[in-house]
Amino acid sequence: MPFTVLTAEFVTENNTFKKGLTELHDFEVDTLLEGEAAIRARREANTELAGFLDVAEKEGWRVIHTISAAASPNSPVSRVAYDQIAGVITDAIAADKDKINGILLSLHGAQVTEFCEDGEGELLARIRAITGPDMLIGVTLDLHANVTRAMVRDAQMWVSFKTYPHIDMRACGVQLAKMMGDAMAGCTRPVTLRRDVPMMDEVNSGRSDEGPMVPLYEEARLQEEEPGILSVSLNAGFSDADIKEMGPTVLVTYDKGVAGAEARAGEIADAHARAIWEARNSVANVFLDVDEAAAEAAGFDAANGPLVIADYSDNPGSGAYGDATNLLAAMLKAGLQDAVFSPMIDAGAAAKLHRQKVGAVVTLPVGGKNDPAFGGGPLMLTGTITHLSDGAFRGDGPMLGGLDRTFGATAVLKVEGVEILIVTEREQMLDQQQLRAFGIDPTKRKTLALKSMQHFRAAFELLAGKVIVCDSGALSTPQMSRRPYRNVRRPIWPLDPDVAF
Ligand SMILES: [Zn+2]
Repeated sequence: MPFTVLTAEFVTENNTFKKGLTELHDFEVDTLLEGEAAIRARREANTELAGFLDVAEKEGWRVIHTISAAASPNSPVSRVAYDQIAGVITDAIAADKDKINGILLSLHGAQVTEFCEDGEGELLARIRAITGPDMLIGVTLDLHANVTRAMVRDAQMWVSFKTYPHIDMRACGVQLAKMMGDAMAGCTRPVTLRRDVPMMDEVNSGRSDEGPMVPLYEEARLQEEEPGILSVSLNAGFSDADIKEMGPTVLVTYDKGVAGAEARAGEIADAHARAIWEARNSVANVFLDVDEAAAEAAGFDAANGPLVIADYSDNPGSGAYGDATNLLAAMLKAGLQDAVFSPMIDAGAAAKLHRQKVGAVVTLPVGGKNDPAFGGGPLMLTGTITHLSDGAFRGDGPMLGGLDRTFGATAVLKVEGVEILIVTEREQMLDQQQLRAFGIDPTKRKTLALKSMQHFRAAFELLAGKVIVCDSGALSTPQMSRRPYRNVRRPIWPLDPDVAF
């Protein structure tokens, strides 16, 4: 009898400082597809599901794919949205539990709901209540997971991304599915141990292109080749989710059937946790303020490609509002030409512009409406509409290649020398198609201001003459003391600089 494996993707991370809730609509505009429809949309892309299916097809498993649900990072998930999506998964497990040999889940690991600060732990507990303790469960996580004890208690196998920008989703799916295959066949008895570090976040949020994590990921890959060591996952944590168990963790999944593996797993986990702690002052980014960033752009020679300015702290990908205006104001004040600012997430302004035609000259307030204390208030701007669109695009870069996404109603408003992409739905800048689809060739501009912390590098670093990083003071500012933390365990670094490990 071939093995039967049940699969699901339920991926979102939640910024508890952000007003409002993540609703079903937020999943619908990103990904909310069941069964075959989900497989059609995600089979050929860089997704965890594609990795699960690569292995399943090769091994001849029967696959029950329940749902693929993903929402761009936002405020906590509403109970209605959570119960709906989790319910699709748990109903399918309840219906088929006697036929299922293993469950493969793609989760984020920093999901917070309106009723619970550990969305993934809650999901796994609901699943365990149906299956009992013996069902094999494997989980892929985003590198920015906050991994709780409850999560690890309820699944045997864990694999987290080892790249930031994240480009190894499918590879992690393959790694986990192979591990599941060995366990279902009775060749291994996987179990996972967890270590945490008294920090809110790895110092560079887990960057894999620069900084102290680079050799640690490399070491982890080598350790996964050791006898009895099945996976080594280094999670950077997500400090915009104010929960008790926030912060970096190390997970080592090992085979308890191999003598000495448990002790070796403990050594590996302790060493990585210690290394993450010791590197806590090794900040890789130089954070410029908005005037410094705009001044650098004004004097920049773009002969070898544009200056890319990361609007780090207004990254919609960490749940910031994406409508902060401080950097845009500085760019306009500096008189930049051939510059792009993208995106400005302002549904009201996008709707107003959509009532006009291309070529119209319009005056309207833009951005700064959600929380002016973080990143600046509305700007009254006069500009020319150069492009109108429904916002749909298909990614072609390393992260979004082949995936359909949408900004919703979108307009390009050119104000003096700056083209502003004014959009309805939240997306961070991950892919060149987020500009090209709207008539902007990023290689032909001198300055690209992009709302993203690090993921933009996957698609924009190669074309950039230079990259600089700006803290515009928005909600995801690296100045953690500006956010009113209440739930995180104390003491913790850097809120409590004297904490010991
Ligand atoms: Zn991430």
